Amino acid sequence: MKISLRLKLLLYKFFSGNFGKKLLKAISFGVKVKNLGSNFNPKNAKKRKFFVVITVDTESGYVNSDERRVWQKENPNAFVGYYYGIANLLKILSKHNAKATFFLSTQCFSAKSLEYEKIRNAIINAANNGHEIGLHLHPDSDFAIQKKLFKKFNATSAFFYSYKEKHEIIKSAREIIKEHLGKNAEKKLISFRWGNWALDTEGAKALQKLDFKIDSSATPGIKGHLNDGMKYDWSKVKYHYPWKLSITDYRAINHNNSGIIEMPIATFSFFGLNLRADPLYSVLLKKAFMEYYLKADRAKKAFPFVVITHSSEATYKDGNIAQTLKDLEDFIIFAKKFEDVRFVSLREAYNQNFRQSLIGGNALTATTK
Ligand SMILES: [Zn+2]
Repeated sequence: MKISLRLKLLLYKFFSGNFGKKLLKAISFGVKVKNLGSNFNPKNAKKRKFFVVITVDTESGYVNSDERRVWQKENPNAFVGYYYGIANLLKILSKHNAKATFFLSTQCFSAKSLEYEKIRNAIINAANNGHEIGLHLHPDSDFAIQKKLFKKFNATSAFFYSYKEKHEIIKSAREIIKEHLGKNAEKKLISFRWGNWALDTEGAKALQKLDFKIDSSATPGIKGHLNDGMKYDWSKVKYHYPWKLSITDYRAINHNNSGIIEMPIATFSFFGLNLRADPLYSVLLKKAFMEYYLKADRAKKAFPFVVITHSSEATYKDGNIAQTLKDLEDFIIFAKKFEDVRFVSLREAYNQNFRQSLIGGNALTATTK
């Protein structure tokens, strides 16, 4: 194991334990959210609802007993990430009556016989309980897509593919959903997140062509893997409210030239370190929530606070509930206590804020009733 990974694991184990959490809480004043708009009237802050949008990147993998994450890329056939992961999440979500969005990597349909059935049942169960199914792309570890296109893909990120390839990859994923989950599921597929947040301009164009209405790949202020196949770069985006995705420069927030609403993942800085709203950061997620809850302008529209987690981080290999899911539950209990907070899917957040206006014209001037 690399030293940096070993250190990260040690830190995670420490800060997700009781003592570590107390310590983290004591220094959580270091959590800051920039660019929420500095000159709005505080009276407007709570005029509309505050949506907590839990999104789950749903893929192979699990949490090892030493807390190390085994991701889909490392073990594409660790299908426990799907059936145990989804089942564990559903247990917690239904206990607190919270809706979530499951971004599905179609690699799950490479599973065979009993595992395949378990996965399919878990997904259908999620959909039947009012959760949303969206699409999540990992071309390099999605053998269902590769098989369908008779091609091997070596990178996760959109940056490594031509427009034609991106279009055919997303299109084939839509078809795979239709084959395994039915026409209706494919029709309802309007939300999207590129694996590793690695969307680019032509990827946005392909999404538009293929009828997606919501993207949630953006991580404002954060970039990573700039020198490998997982490259993503949202570092120039300094905006936390939804905007219309641009199909001529994916990082521009004011082009208004597509029918896709970008609902960015909530990001925050912690003593200068930029982080995503993820239960991985336990008490810091609560602090970030507070920042947004108190400061996001809700005068005209509800604010969607988009949280990210992974189905593979919700389970150990044997199906036991992993620490990150316990921390997600802890966060749900915490956030539920605030008035005006609703736990909704991306589709619901979109319907509340943007839908009528997309039919009528400019989405960004729409208001919630
Ligand atoms: Zn992923």
